[in-house]
Amino acid sequence: MSAERVVLVTGGNRGIGRAIAERFVRDGYRVAVTARSGEGPEGTLTVRADVTDAAAVDAAFTEVEQKLGPVEIVVANAGITKDTLLMRMSEDDFDSVVATNLGGAFRVVKRASKGMLRARFGRVILISSVVGLYGSAGQVNYSASKSALVGFARSLTRELGGRGITANVVAPGFIETDMTAELPEETQKQYKASIPAGRFATPDEVAGTVVWLAGDDAAYISGAVIPVDGGLGMGH
Ligand code: NDP
Repeated sequence: MSAERVVLVTGGNRGIGRAIAERFVRDGYRVAVTARSGEGPEGTLTVRADVTDAAAVDAAFTEVEQKLGPVEIVVANAGITKDTLLMRMSEDDFDSVVATNLGGAFRVVKRASKGMLRARFGRVILISSVVGLYGSAGQVNYSASKSALVGFARSLTRELGGRGITANVVAPGFIETDMTAELPEETQKQYKASIPAGRFATPDEVAGTVVWLAGDDAAYISGAVIPVDGGLGMGH
């Protein structure tokens, strides 16, 4: 049953979002991805949308609804970093990160909720980060945007939990994508030393958890924060 459902993953053209979309395709779901550039993996429907633009998000959902049907599972994955120390952080560094990471989730989930309420079924999965709750020097903007997703998912759970809709947060640690490739080698080495698993993860290791949360086995899990971080954030 669950494998026939319609999934939308934001930022599915590369990185973690792409791996998530690939997993859903592999498991037989009908999968759409949003992309500003490029294309989603084979077997997906790619729709154009910048998640900071509510009209573009609305149009993307309309296209998915017309081509695949109502979105039953939404993965808010699109995200950016603009790292710098607070003293040097500009208004734009702060606002653009919050508008993408938190505002993007708001726009996408709000639009998805209409169809989910009608269907009395929905899975909302928000991609946060270990630094949301752990904190990270130079990432006040990013960390704030990611911890806010926890309040978002928990409030949504209280609003819509009685309608067959779950909302959960996945908090990855360090994952091998373009985002972490930007880090200087020395910084990467230091991070690896502080991760109990002693390594970064592959995007596919995050994807497995997301697909599991979307499935029938996770029907009674809501408002949870699931770490996929090799033990980095333990206790948070
Ligand atoms: P990448 O930088 O590899 O990819 C980011 C994705 O988000 C791209 O598809 C990008 O699209 C999309 N995106 C960014 N801004 C927008 C926007 N305004 N509208 C639409 N799409 C947008 O990142 P990752 O795959 O590493 O990260 C994915 C998510 O996982 C992010 O939310 C990130 O914060 C989170 N995360 C990543 C970790 C890591 O170690 N890599 C750790 C913890 C969390 P485009 O190609 O068009 O730019």
